[in-house]
Amino acid sequence: MTDDCLFCKLYREGDHVNAADGFVAIRDINPQADTHLLVIPERHVDTFRDVGEFPPDEARRMLQFVADTARAAGLEDYKVVVNVGPGAGQTVFHLHWHVLGGRIRGLA
Ligand code: AMP
Ligand code: ZN
Repeated sequence: MTDDCLFCKLYREGDHVNAADGFVAIRDINPQADTHLLVIPERHVDTFRDVGEFPPDEARRMLQFVADTARAAGLEDYKVVVNVGPGAGQTVFHLHWHVLGGRIRGLA
């Protein structure tokens, strides 16, 4: 947990569209699709490269939460995207999952 991390802050006090123990989902501030949600885990790791720091059950629950969030948003068909590193377009260095549904403009 880092005080100056935007997504640690949004985990604590953001406007959550879905929440479970250790995970929240928010609306992306600059949506690239009709529905563009971000799944943010409470556990701070900088990038997906460090996903091994999640205990196995927490990693499984994170994936389940991504699927639950899409379902709760009314999405049947959608994309799940993780940008890994600046060269791939990552701008916030707290692991997060993009959930994109409907007409998708970017990140595809
Ligand atoms: P990435 O480029 O994969 O690191 O994704 C970061 C995402 O966070 C981008 O799609 C941004 O539009 C989004 N974002 C940045 N600041 C905020 C914010 N305050 N609230 C919601 N989404 C944000
Ligand atoms: Zn963080």
